[in-house]
Amino acid sequence: MSKICLCLTAKTISRNLELIEKYRKYIDLAELRVDCLHPDEIFFIRHFPRQAGIPVILTIRRKQDGGFYLSGEGSRVALLSRGLAFAESDRRHNFAYVDLEEDLEVPGLEEAVRTFGTRIIRSYHNFDGIGNITEKIKSLRKIGDEIAKIAVMPQSLKDVLVIYRAVRETTDTEKIIVGMGTFGLNTRILSEKLGSFLSYTSETEDPTIPPGAPGLISPKELVEKYRFRDINSATDIYGVVGFPLNTTYSPKIYNTVFSREKIDAVYIPFPAHDLGYFLELAEDLNIKGAAVTIPYKEEIIHHLSNVSDSVRIAGACNTIKALGTLTRSLPGETVSKVWIGTNTDTLGFTESLLSFLDRKHLRGQKITIIGAGGAARAVVSEIFRLKGKCLILNRTPVRARELALNFGYAWGGLDSQALDTIERYSDIIIQTSPVGTFPNINDDPFELYNFNGHETVMDLIYNPQQTAFLKRAMATGCRILNGMDMLLRQAKYQYEYILDRDFPEHLIPALLGSLQK
Ligand code: NAP
Repeated sequence: MSKICLCLTAKTISRNLELIEKYRKYIDLAELRVDCLHPDEIFFIRHFPRQAGIPVILTIRRKQDGGFYLSGEGSRVALLSRGLAFAESDRRHNFAYVDLEEDLEVPGLEEAVRTFGTRIIRSYHNFDGIGNITEKIKSLRKIGDEIAKIAVMPQSLKDVLVIYRAVRETTDTEKIIVGMGTFGLNTRILSEKLGSFLSYTSETEDPTIPPGAPGLISPKELVEKYRFRDINSATDIYGVVGFPLNTTYSPKIYNTVFSREKIDAVYIPFPAHDLGYFLELAEDLNIKGAAVTIPYKEEIIHHLSNVSDSVRIAGACNTIKALGTLTRSLPGETVSKVWIGTNTDTLGFTESLLSFLDRKHLRGQKITIIGAGGAARAVVSEIFRLKGKCLILNRTPVRARELALNFGYAWGGLDSQALDTIERYSDIIIQTSPVGTFPNINDDPFELYNFNGHETVMDLIYNPQQTAFLKRAMATGCRILNGMDMLLRQAKYQYEYILDRDFPEHLIPALLGSLQK
């Protein structure tokens, strides 16, 4: 099983020991990053493995490799020797591993550590890309008993795909594979599938402690949110694709359900600059289904073999599912997954709003929609079905026009001209743009509009629970509804579509509670 390593980057030995205690139940080993220690502390590193009580990697990372060590190589080697000196017969009191970069030549030190049972991790770092990773994995180790460590910075999901392929070509090499940054998160969660000896994690709650490497998450998050301990070579992979994917709650919803229902599956965020790269990766990793979010709800439709009526009517898709592989007979044609799609925002929205209003339809209701993107399409198509009347206002008026004309609705820009029209469509106001989402929580999509206190106001955003827009509405006496209830309702339908099994509704109160935290 792939292990979890906590990267220790605090300034003092005692703080690093506190971090081990904090995460002890989640971790298998720790890496002492001596380059992060205060100069007065480096004299005490020799005792650290005994104090830690778990296997420890000794690392002194140079600045050029992403660390903080600024002195010369001579002093670095002396410091490494100090950490490894006076080996004890009880190996648990010695460093279990030492991280030596590929260009570091210290035969004497290497011979000594081998004699006393410390294993060498031979490391390569690339913060600008992935380089020729297959060659690097094959050539990195100087002697076969070393563990090759490749820490690279994928710039897109295309690079991530290259990492997975490289790993498959080098199964006979014992290695550690680290995809850094947001694109690399999936490689650290799927460490077991990659055959990586370990996955690195870092303290993320104390802002005074630097991350061990860009993008590392905490051991708690890796285990509790991403089911690290349950992932094996047969685990099914699901996910969410979008960009930037800062605020997605779906991994928490799905992974909680998978854990509670004992389903051998994991749900991972796949931030993607390019939808095509995600689909290629999905093919390679055999991803079975995914949620689709900003900005791909419309673009994804071009990649689907079949879509539900909800997608056809809304012109947007938030859920895709793989139907296995299509084998083509023509030589040269790629074998590809067949994807089908549906839209669960539609039913999620309708159920949430109607239950809030305690109504069965929207006949006679005059409604203003802010935004004309993927979510707005789902909302507007449902309002049409429920017999409501709409005014659609959007930053880019032509998009509002395009959407409104499909349903014979009114449209306009988010400007002062809209203020007269909105008065005639103010029974309900539904905010569907991402403006006001965390971290930009003070942003308001339509500051020009003054609520009269009689509107019912819904904001599809669920983080924060009260956007600046909703707060303003509430202050004038409006009834307000955020997007959390809709999120869970649409997630239930999405889960049932993708997994072909009932959603365990008894888990909803617990899920709601943990998401609201
Ligand atoms: P999208 O397809 O990218 O559309 C975004 C819309 O917002 C567009 O109309 C865009 O206007 C407008 N917009 C973006 N930035 C703006 C700005 N700075 N000022 C004014 N308007 C701006 O996104 P989406 O998929 O519709 O999602 C929108 C929001 O709904 C997200 O926050 C998402 O999390 C939320 N959502 C919630 C649920 C739920 O279950 N609660 C479900 C779906 C979506 P332009 O046309 O001018 O670019």
